[in-house]
Amino acid sequence: MITHDVVVIGGGLSGLRCAIELHEKGVDVAIISKVPPIRSHSGAAQGGINASLGSDDSWESHAFDTVKGSDYLADQDTVEILCREAPDRVIEMEHWGTNFSRKDDGTIAQRPFGGAGFPRTCYAGDRTGHNLLHTLHERVLRAGIKVYREWLVTKIVIEDNRCQGFVAMNLLNSELEVFKTKATVLATGGYGRIYERSTNAIINKGFGISLAYRAGVPMQDMEFVQFHPTTLWGTNILITEGARGEGGYLYNKDHERFMKDYAASSMELAPRDIVARSIQQEIDEGRGFPGGYVHLDITHLGKDLIEKRLGGIRQISIDFAGIDPVEEPIPVQPGQHYSMGGISSDKDGATPANGLYAVGECACISVHGANRLGGNSLLDTVVFGRRAGVHAADYVASLEEKEESEEDDALEQALNNERTAISDMMGSDGESYSGISEKLKKTMQENVGVFREKKKLQKAIEDIKKLEERAKSLKVKTTAKEFNLELLNAIELKGMLDLAHAIALGALVREESRGAHYRTDFLERDDGNWLKHTLAYLTPEGPRLEYKEVNITTFQPQRRTY
Ligand SMILES: Cc1cc2nc3c(=O)[nH]c(=O)nc-3n(C[C@H](O)[C@H](O)[C@H](O)COP(=O)(O)OP(=O)(O)OC[C@H]3O[C@@H](n4cnc5c(N)ncnc54)[C@H](O)[C@@H]3O)c2cc1C
Repeated sequence: MITHDVVVIGGGLSGLRCAIELHEKGVDVAIISKVPPIRSHSGAAQGGINASLGSDDSWESHAFDTVKGSDYLADQDTVEILCREAPDRVIEMEHWGTNFSRKDDGTIAQRPFGGAGFPRTCYAGDRTGHNLLHTLHERVLRAGIKVYREWLVTKIVIEDNRCQGFVAMNLLNSELEVFKTKATVLATGGYGRIYERSTNAIINKGFGISLAYRAGVPMQDMEFVQFHPTTLWGTNILITEGARGEGGYLYNKDHERFMKDYAASSMELAPRDIVARSIQQEIDEGRGFPGGYVHLDITHLGKDLIEKRLGGIRQISIDFAGIDPVEEPIPVQPGQHYSMGGISSDKDGATPANGLYAVGECACISVHGANRLGGNSLLDTVVFGRRAGVHAADYVASLEEKEESEEDDALEQALNNERTAISDMMGSDGESYSGISEKLKKTMQENVGVFREKKKLQKAIEDIKKLEERAKSLKVKTTAKEFNLELLNAIELKGMLDLAHAIALGALVREESRGAHYRTDFLERDDGNWLKHTLAYLTPEGPRLEYKEVNITTFQPQRRTY
């Protein structure tokens, strides 16, 4: 049994920021991650991080834009925290060494992003996540924080509504081990790879979210899935919103800047839900290019600016589409990008289970509501990563020493159960994970996408139920102990199914259109019936849905126009 006061599960931005805070408060903290921290998906973030640094900007404007962007589903108390703390967190990252792009006067450069009233997105070229992640990783190394690299957490243990620790598998040798903690922080990222077309890395399967769900903690607002408007046609690698922020145009096959028909004043810089739907509508109505894409044109920005501020996406376009955006437009289509929903947690990342925290993309602290604004997720990781660290440190300090044998029993029992479950999974007389996961991605893509309607959502749920049955007799043929990726994928598949089921059911039941959840059979937002958060609890029959109120403090819901 390995013991720490706190273990942070996840080595992305939110996990590293949380661990740094805990370490600075003198807590015995460790990080555990299925990939080395700097391979976490945070490193792929391109466009930037929001903060109202400009003298003509304010945290209140940032908060208003965020709430309006969320289609009024975000909790306004947590949005206030996000936007008030943003300048401090960004300046802190600058002081810790992040290599932000600069204005001529040496201050941090900021670019316009969709749905924002001011240019408030701070950036490091188009490699912002990479820069932030390395800054925090260096700090973790300097602090000497213990990192368990390449371990997969497979089970969270909650007894008497208190998290006791977890079971994890060392991927180097497939051995299972118990970690006993006073507090555990989930910082396990998003689930993009339950969709066929996603900007996310293949590691992003949302397993961490299902760990909490399976331990009895609800998932919140899962039906709100962000589809990024501009992903590279063919591979769906992200082409940052920064490309439009720097002045890029979207054209259909008739060379029309079609955004004039959807968001006449904001044009290409309308929020993501609106731009993604506009592109999809152009494609669906035959005004896209054959194969299903439109053009993102940045040629008029010139080589120098493209090289300086969008060098990463230039290289991506050359390498993966054979197109140099200095010379030609980039073919783009919408793709799954971000999860607004996640583990239900509060303004300090605390979940309803004592001693269990969730931060970053795996959490639903509810600052993004029904549609996240670009640049607010990187901000979310550092603001709430730090806050969870502060709160978890206080929580650990408040615990009294007590008889621990019963807790150890629960952990040992969980270890034995996991060993049995994995050994039952080994063999050649069943189906492999891959057919099930491919079918799942397909049905999510086709039936729970940008445009949704009752029949398709019902079809998705039927498919998912059948896949859940098939997954019960899943088998892993590979017997290798070292990096058994077939075993890892098989373990994570059940989590993917959990999430998909809750997303599809939440989307079916929510009979309105709000933010990224757009029902072609219920076109309007319906505040009378649906201005509320969805909570999904696991039952043997699948998710059970409950609802809770949205926290509205300052901004009364209005019609959302851009
Ligand atoms: C291509 C791309 C570009 C983006 N650009 C921007 C941007 O410019 N601005 C912005 O605000 N947002 C952006 N986002 C969103 C933002 O990058 C992410 O939401 C954010 O970085 C997520 O950070 P995180 O710490 O929550 O998770 P991640 O960085 O995904 O880290 C998750 C960690 O959890 C670990 N993990 C997961 N499951 C387990 C397990 N079971 N056991 C052990 N470890 C586990 C992983 O190893 C990893 O270390 C972008 C997203 C994408 C996909």
